[in-house]
Amino acid sequence: MTFLDTDIFAKIIAGEIPCDTVFENERILAFHDIQPKAKHHVLIVPKENLITAQEVTEENKELFGELFLVAKQVAENLNISGYKLAMNVGEDGGQIVPHVHLHLLSADYKSIL
Ligand code: AMP
Repeated sequence: MTFLDTDIFAKIIAGEIPCDTVFENERILAFHDIQPKAKHHVLIVPKENLITAQEVTEENKELFGELFLVAKQVAENLNISGYKLAMNVGEDGGQIVPHVHLHLLSADYKSIL
Protein backbone atom coordinates (compact mmCIF):
# COMPACT_ATOMS: atom_id res chain seq x y z
CA MET A 1 0.00 0.00 0.00
CA THR A 2 1.12 3.55 -0.62
CA PHE A 3 0.22 6.82 1.04
CA LEU A 4 -2.78 8.55 -0.50
CA ASP A 5 -1.90 11.76 -2.38
CA THR A 6 -4.35 13.77 -0.29
CA ASP A 7 -4.51 14.27 3.47
CA ILE A 8 -8.21 13.33 3.72
CA PHE A 9 -8.19 13.82 7.48
CA ALA A 10 -7.04 17.45 7.16
CA LYS A 11 -10.06 17.98 4.90
CA ILE A 12 -12.33 16.32 7.47
CA ILE A 13 -10.89 18.53 10.24
CA ALA A 14 -11.43 21.60 8.03
CA GLY A 15 -15.08 20.56 7.52
CA GLU A 16 -14.60 20.05 3.77
CA ILE A 17 -15.47 16.32 3.97
CA PRO A 18 -18.21 15.07 6.34
CA CYS A 19 -17.58 12.59 9.11
CA ASP A 20 -19.46 10.91 11.93
CA THR A 21 -17.89 12.67 14.92
CA VAL A 22 -17.79 10.95 18.31
CA PHE A 23 -15.44 13.37 20.13
CA GLU A 24 -13.90 16.79 19.49
CA ASN A 25 -11.82 19.29 21.40
CA GLU A 26 -9.35 22.01 20.32
CA ARG A 27 -6.62 19.53 19.53
CA ILE A 28 -8.25 16.23 18.58
CA LEU A 29 -11.14 14.95 16.44
CA ALA A 30 -12.47 11.37 16.67
CA PHE A 31 -14.89 9.90 14.14
CA HIS A 32 -16.15 6.55 12.85
CA ASP A 33 -14.02 4.81 10.23
CA ILE A 34 -15.78 4.80 6.86
CA GLN A 35 -14.90 1.08 6.33
CA PRO A 36 -15.28 -0.34 9.84
CA LYS A 37 -13.37 -3.50 10.70
CA ALA A 38 -15.34 -3.96 13.94
CA LYS A 39 -18.74 -3.03 15.36
CA HIS A 40 -17.09 0.10 16.71
CA HIS A 41 -14.12 1.40 14.72
CA VAL A 42 -13.14 4.94 15.62
CA LEU A 43 -10.22 7.01 14.35
CA ILE A 44 -8.65 9.43 16.84
CA VAL A 45 -6.86 12.19 14.96
CA PRO A 46 -4.77 15.17 16.08
CA LYS A 47 -5.86 18.37 14.31
CA GLU A 48 -2.24 19.35 13.77
CA ASN A 49 -0.93 18.17 10.40
CA LEU A 50 1.46 15.44 11.55
CA ILE A 51 2.10 12.78 8.93
CA THR A 52 3.34 9.81 10.96
CA ALA A 53 4.09 8.94 14.58
CA GLN A 54 7.77 9.25 13.66
CA GLU A 55 7.15 12.98 14.13
CA VAL A 56 6.72 12.61 17.89
CA THR A 57 9.09 14.94 19.78
CA GLU A 58 9.66 16.23 23.31
CA GLU A 59 7.53 19.25 22.29
CA ASN A 60 4.47 17.35 21.03
CA LYS A 61 4.58 14.20 23.19
CA GLU A 62 1.61 15.42 25.27
CA LEU A 63 -0.53 15.62 22.15
CA PHE A 64 0.36 12.01 21.29
CA GLY A 65 -0.45 11.02 24.89
CA GLU A 66 -3.79 12.78 24.67
CA LEU A 67 -4.80 10.41 21.85
CA PHE A 68 -4.92 7.66 24.52
CA LEU A 69 -6.95 9.82 26.90
CA VAL A 70 -9.47 10.42 24.13
CA ALA A 71 -9.53 6.69 23.31
CA LYS A 72 -10.46 5.95 26.92
CA GLN A 73 -13.18 8.62 26.83
CA VAL A 74 -14.60 7.34 23.53
CA ALA A 75 -14.64 3.74 24.82
CA GLU A 76 -16.55 4.88 27.91
CA ASN A 77 -18.99 6.99 25.89
CA LEU A 78 -19.72 4.15 23.45
CA ASN A 79 -19.86 1.52 26.22
CA ILE A 80 -16.99 -0.48 24.74
CA SER A 81 -15.66 -2.73 27.51
CA GLY A 82 -12.65 -4.17 25.67
CA TYR A 83 -10.86 -2.96 22.59
CA LYS A 84 -7.72 -2.85 20.51
CA LEU A 85 -5.72 0.31 19.87
CA ALA A 86 -3.51 0.33 16.80
CA MET A 87 -1.45 2.81 14.83
CA ASN A 88 0.11 2.11 11.45
CA VAL A 89 3.33 4.09 11.14
CA GLY A 90 4.61 5.07 7.70
CA GLU A 91 4.00 3.62 4.29
CA ASP A 92 6.01 0.48 5.09
CA GLY A 93 3.99 0.13 8.30
CA GLY A 94 0.72 -0.14 6.38
CA GLN A 95 -0.37 3.48 6.83
CA ILE A 96 -2.50 4.77 3.97
CA VAL A 97 -3.78 8.16 5.12
CA PRO A 98 -0.80 10.53 5.56
CA HIS A 99 -2.02 12.03 8.84
CA VAL A 100 -1.41 10.55 12.32
CA HIS A 101 -4.38 8.53 13.63
CA LEU A 102 -5.05 5.99 16.34
CA HIS A 103 -7.51 3.20 15.51
CA LEU A 104 -9.89 2.09 18.27
CA LEU A 105 -11.52 -1.25 17.42
CA SER A 106 -14.04 -2.99 19.64
CA ALA A 107 -13.03 -6.53 20.60
CA ASP A 108 -15.11 -8.13 17.84
CA TYR A 109 -12.71 -6.74 15.20
CA LYS A 110 -12.61 -8.81 11.99
CA SER A 111 -9.08 -8.13 10.80
CA ILE A 112 -5.75 -6.76 11.87
CA LEU A 113 -5.21 -3.41 10.19
P1 AMP B 1 -4.44 3.54 7.86
O1 AMP B 1 -4.30 2.33 6.98
O2 AMP B 1 -3.92 3.30 9.25
O3 AMP B 1 -3.87 4.79 7.22
O4 AMP B 1 -6.00 3.74 8.05
C1 AMP B 1 -6.75 4.68 7.35
C2 AMP B 1 -8.20 4.45 7.69
O5 AMP B 1 -8.93 5.59 7.27
C3 AMP B 1 -8.84 3.23 7.02
O6 AMP B 1 -9.35 2.34 8.01
C4 AMP B 1 -9.96 3.83 6.17
O7 AMP B 1 -11.12 3.03 6.12
C5 AMP B 1 -10.21 5.16 6.87
N1 AMP B 1 -10.78 6.22 6.05
C6 AMP B 1 -10.39 6.61 4.82
N2 AMP B 1 -11.13 7.64 4.38
C7 AMP B 1 -12.02 7.92 5.37
C8 AMP B 1 -13.06 8.88 5.53
N3 AMP B 1 -13.36 9.78 4.58
N4 AMP B 1 -13.78 8.87 6.69
C9 AMP B 1 -13.51 7.98 7.65
N5 AMP B 1 -12.52 7.04 7.57
C10 AMP B 1 -11.80 7.01 6.44
